[in-house]
Amino acid sequence: MFREKEKQIIILVREHSALILGITALLAINVLWLVPTLRSIRQTASTLVLESAERIGSNIESTMQRSSDALIGAADDIGILPEQYAFILKRLLSKEDGLQSVSIIAVDGRQTFRLDRVAAVSQEESFVFSSAAQIGIDRALAGEASIGEIFLSDILEPRTILAAPIRTIGKIQGVLVGELNLRPLISFLRDASLPAGHMYVVDRDGFQILHPELPEFLRHPNYIFRPIVKRVIGERHVADGRARDDTYVNEAGVRVFAVGIPLAIGGWSIFAEQPRIIALSREWEMLLLALGISVFGSLAIIIISVKHRSLSGSNSKLKEMLADLDISGKMLVRRDLQLTRANARLMELDQMKSQFVSTAAHQLRTPLTALEWSLNELLEGDFGELKKNQKKLVEDIVIANKRLIRLVNSLLDVARLEEGKRGMSMQKQDIVSVVQGVGDQFKKIAKEKRIGFSFESSAKSLLVDFDKEKLNIALTNLVDNAVKYTPAGGAINLSVAGMEKEVCIAVTDTGIGIPEEQANKIFSKFFRARNAMLLETYGSGLGLSVAKDIVERHQGTIAFTSNVGGGSIFTITLPRA
Ligand code: ADP
Repeated sequence: MFREKEKQIIILVREHSALILGITALLAINVLWLVPTLRSIRQTASTLVLESAERIGSNIESTMQRSSDALIGAADDIGILPEQYAFILKRLLSKEDGLQSVSIIAVDGRQTFRLDRVAAVSQEESFVFSSAAQIGIDRALAGEASIGEIFLSDILEPRTILAAPIRTIGKIQGVLVGELNLRPLISFLRDASLPAGHMYVVDRDGFQILHPELPEFLRHPNYIFRPIVKRVIGERHVADGRARDDTYVNEAGVRVFAVGIPLAIGGWSIFAEQPRIIALSREWEMLLLALGISVFGSLAIIIISVKHRSLSGSNSKLKEMLADLDISGKMLVRRDLQLTRANARLMELDQMKSQFVSTAAHQLRTPLTALEWSLNELLEGDFGELKKNQKKLVEDIVIANKRLIRLVNSLLDVARLEEGKRGMSMQKQDIVSVVQGVGDQFKKIAKEKRIGFSFESSAKSLLVDFDKEKLNIALTNLVDNAVKYTPAGGAINLSVAGMEKEVCIAVTDTGIGIPEEQANKIFSKFFRARNAMLLETYGSGLGLSVAKDIVERHQGTIAFTSNVGGGSIFTITLPRA
């Protein structure tokens, strides 16, 4: 069962290998560009936030440093000119706006002098020394200037205590303590242009000591639990937001992207945080783009592969059709060859037939002619007078013999034409006399049959390029038919008309006509129409076919119009010379 499934999967993979390969390549390419792109997006975001944090941090540092340096300077001055302390401190307050009050503390811890910026503040209210101030005093007495913890004044202002030792010839005479207002630092934080984000400062223990919002400032939370805070305080290194845990969820429940920088004063550090969705918004855009490319790319690959499959299906069908065509083509070539051979064989047989007919006709004509002579002699009484019935019999034999001779002649004509033995002996000559000559031959026969016979011509002579003997045969056949198929009392007209480019010979009779349904066959060899056979039992059906053949050899045409019982007109048209 499991093996079956495995096999099916292998077959499926094989069938769709191109598709799978395409999609895998697409995804791989996507990953290839996506990874560095995401990295560079994070880098850009990190650089931007870091720059901003650095700027605010250095403002805080320099402000603090300046106040601290001013206090230390004043303490040194007092050490040198102890009597001038009041003047020195006044100058200090006027120079340093942030300092709210300054006091001189003696080595025994007593406050010997105090100067307040706001005179109304009573001495008791102000320097009730906080523990933070005491730490500063103690450190100064030990010879070290310090910046103390930040605390809130009674008017809710962030403040700190600066303390510096007063030395006279190297000996500590007392401590100069100053209370510094840190409101400007809050303004720095507020001014930080960090869309939807903010900056905060923590002390060396992780307590938030400065925040742009008062409630947050008052909360005074400890952020040491944040990995980024712990790292910056502990290692005093810049956290650039590129470590995995430089994003965290802040107290407002927002996932933020953060950077941190240690400051050069009081072990403080400044942190900047910004909602991750804003800081790394382009990350999402790129991810969506990659997703889009993957989905649409895969779809495109699937469509192309399906199209390709159907195309290759049609392709193989086309190939099959081509193969079939090829076979049919070969069969056709073979059949063509067979037909060509059969045709050659038929032509050979046809030739043999014509030869046979020609030989047979020749052989027959000599004795038939001899027979005609003898019969004529018999009729003319060369062998004694014949009795009436004997004469009638011989006359019948003469007629039958004549018909036989005519048949043999027709056969000879056909055979000659088919054999093509005799070429055409074309000559430019007058055709009117030739047509008239043929007409003359039939005048007598027509008269005997009581058929009127007339001849007419549009010109005395008309020049045509033709073979006299052959055209004679053709014309004879037409006139002979007219006589044959026109009953007694009818009329025949033979005419020649010269036109611009051709000469038209017409044989018109008032005979039996040609039945319409058989009209298309009368030029075929051996064909005779039914009504013709009834009227004239004798006939070969060769005359018209011979005539057509001859006319066409002259580049002419032969045609007829006819109606049954009303007569026929046969016309031969030949090009003029
Ligand atoms: P045959 O006259 O020996 O029968 P043809 O080839 O000369 O052979 O003519 C073929 C057929 O055409 C004739 O049998 C006849 O049916 C028809 N035909 C030819 N000429 C005429 C005509 N003038 N009038 C009527 N029928 C004709």
